[in-house]
Amino acid sequence: MGKQLKKMIAFIRGFINAKLGSKLSREKIEKIQQTRFNKLQREALSTSEFYSCYVNKPLDEYPVIRKAIHVENFNIINTAGLDKDTAFEIAIASEKSRDFTPDYKGFSVGLSSGTSGNRGLFVTSVEERAQWAGYIIGKLLPFRCGKHRVAFFLRANNNLYESSNGILLIFKFFDLIDGLNKNIKKLVKFNPTILIAPASVLLKIIEKKPKINPVKVIAIAEVLEASDKRLLESYFQQKIHQIYQCTEGFVAATCSEGNLHLNEDVLIIEKKWINQESGRFSPILTDLKRVTQPVIRYYLDDILIEDKAPCACGSNFTRLKAIEGRKDDIFYLRNNRNELIDVFPDFIRNSLIIVSAELIEYQVIQSEKNKLVIYILPFNEVIRKNISSALDELFNRLDVLIPQYEFDEFKVIDNGKKRRRVMRQIDG
Ligand SMILES: [Zn+2]
Repeated sequence: MGKQLKKMIAFIRGFINAKLGSKLSREKIEKIQQTRFNKLQREALSTSEFYSCYVNKPLDEYPVIRKAIHVENFNIINTAGLDKDTAFEIAIASEKSRDFTPDYKGFSVGLSSGTSGNRGLFVTSVEERAQWAGYIIGKLLPFRCGKHRVAFFLRANNNLYESSNGILLIFKFFDLIDGLNKNIKKLVKFNPTILIAPASVLLKIIEKKPKINPVKVIAIAEVLEASDKRLLESYFQQKIHQIYQCTEGFVAATCSEGNLHLNEDVLIIEKKWINQESGRFSPILTDLKRVTQPVIRYYLDDILIEDKAPCACGSNFTRLKAIEGRKDDIFYLRNNRNELIDVFPDFIRNSLIIVSAELIEYQVIQSEKNKLVIYILPFNEVIRKNISSALDELFNRLDVLIPQYEFDEFKVIDNGKKRRRVMRQIDG
C-alpha cells in the first residue's frame, strides 16, 4: 500500500472514530477500551523492552510512570529502535530553526515543555499523526460545504496538524515567535473559518480587532479562565471551544454544548484523586493508539475537575467542569496547627477577579513558604489594598495563616511561553 494511501486511511479512521464516540454507552466505551488495550499489548507492548514483561497482565499491574521515567527509559520503551540523544538533538535543532520538517528514521520528534524543568520527548509515525489529526478534526469540525480554512497559532507545530492538510481543510500554521503584528496581517488575508490559539493569544488577537469571521474559535494549550472566556465569547458572538491536548495525548475536547469531555475511546484515563468531594483529580493516561512510543499509565501533573451531571449533548464520556492547571500550581500554606493546606489556583483566581473591574492583568506566585508575589496592572494603591483584603478573606475562610504579600507591577513578556496566572515556585 502506498504511503499516501496509508496516511489517508489512518486519517479517515481517526475521523470516524471521533464522530462515533459521542454516541456510545458507558458499557460500550469500557468494552472498546479493553479490546483496544488487548490489541495494543499484542501488537506494540510485546515488542517494547520496557513493557514486554507485563504483556497479558491487566492494566492496573503496569507501573504508573511520570515524565522523568518516560524520558529516562526512552530507548527501551519505544518500539522503533530510536535513540534518546539523537532524538533530542533533532528536536532541539527543529525548535531553534523553527523548521519542523526534519524527521528521525521517518518519525517526527517533538519536545514538551515541563513546568519543573524536565523536558518530555515524543516521537510519532506518519500514520499515528494522521490518525491523531483525523480524530481531532472529527471532534471539532462543524460541517461545511467546501474546505475549512484553519488558522493555528502555536509555539511549535511538530507536523501533527499538517498531517490533515488538504484532506478536509486548508491548514495554516502561525508561529508565535513571529510576533503578533506580522501574524495578524497574515491572518486577515487567510480569513480563517476556524481559529485555534492559546487563550492568551486569542485575547491579544481581539485587541487588534482584525476583520475575520471564524465559525468556530478554539482555545488550546493553557487554562481558559472564566473571565477570559466571557470576553472572547462576547467578541466573537459564539461559544469558545477548548481542546485539552498535550504531547502526551489528546485528553479532552468540548462538545456541541461547549462542555469538556474526556476522550475515553482513544485513551484510558484513571483518576488519581486529589479531592474526591470536589471532583479534583490528576489523570493517568494510557493511550490506546500510540505504538511507536507507548504512553502507558502516564501520570500528568494537571488538575481536572469532574462534573457528575449528565451533559445535554448525550455523550457518556466523563464530563469535566474545568481544567484547573498544573498541580505544581497548588499553593501550600500552613494553618495554625502547622499542617499544609492545599490552596487551589481557582481559589486565588476567583478572589482576584472580583476585586476590581480595573484590574487588567495579574499573576500570583508563591515564592516562599510564607510569601506571595503579586504582579498587577494597573499598579496602584487601591487595587493593592483590595487584593490584600480579598486574599486575607480567602485565607481566613480556608483557615490558613495569612502569608506575606509583595506587590509589583505586571509586565507583559511575550516569549511564546504558556501564561500561568497562578504559579508555585517552591517545592511542595
Ligand atoms: Zn457534552
